[in-house]
Amino acid sequence: TCIEVRADGEIIALDAGSGIRSLGIALEKEFQSQPIRLSLLITHAHWDHIQGLPFFAPAYEKKNEIRVRGYDGVDMSFGEIMAEPMKAPFFPIAMRELSARVEIKKLTEMEFCVGKVQVRARFVNHPGICAGYRLFTSTGSIAFLPDHEPYRFLHSARANGMSPEQAKKTAPEERIALVEFLRGSDILILDAQYTDTEYESHVGWGHGSVSSAVSLALDAEVRRLLLFHHDPSHDDAMIDAMVHDARQLIRESGKDLEVDAAREGEEILLPAAQTKSPK
Ligand SMILES: [Zn+2]
Ligand SMILES: [Zn+2]
Repeated sequence: TCIEVRADGEIIALDAGSGIRSLGIALEKEFQSQPIRLSLLITHAHWDHIQGLPFFAPAYEKKNEIRVRGYDGVDMSFGEIMAEPMKAPFFPIAMRELSARVEIKKLTEMEFCVGKVQVRARFVNHPGICAGYRLFTSTGSIAFLPDHEPYRFLHSARANGMSPEQAKKTAPEERIALVEFLRGSDILILDAQYTDTEYESHVGWGHGSVSSAVSLALDAEVRRLLLFHHDPSHDDAMIDAMVHDARQLIRESGKDLEVDAAREGEEILLPAAQTKSPK
């Protein structure tokens, strides 16, 4: 998992999974001897979201500046989480030995700015602490919820020892709040790891399904949905079939929503004309 957003003079990377390696190579090629200034927002500590950082070439160049932001985990500080993939004996270079100016700072607020880009965060339904981000740029807003399970299974209930009655009351409230958080997003990058049939045998695993992703995007009046967090066992034909199912659901709803599967290396431009600003 790694998404690059370029907006309002900022380079913002969302998560540092294995994809950040190719992002690093592309940035080095583009910037050559010029310094790279980049902000990296981390959703959570799972390996597929942080393990690429040791292989991010710009971190090894003195000229570059990388600001890393995210929230503390349940039993681990954000700094400890980010240092983990570079610990001996698993990796030969420690985080503090990186040549670039790498500043790792935990987030304590749910609203903050990266330059002129306003960012709102919300904790989503996933094991442990996991944030979703919404970036408000001058050309539109992008919501990034790579790992999120529908509230039918409430992860915080297990973690907080909620009674079944409390969980039953909290789950729909959480969903309403999430719909408001996402309302009017130009792009929503959302966990749709499973087909609806697969999801039935993966309830509680922390990931979403095609129909849950479509219904969340429709309720939040999102303009374009990108199905994300593809299951490693799904091939292209399977992903195509899932997109087909999603489009069928949208047709049946009679509402407007574009849907595609996110794909590696794809570039999406947000036209300024369709700008929606935060309320
Ligand atoms: Zn995860
Ligand atoms: Zn993940």
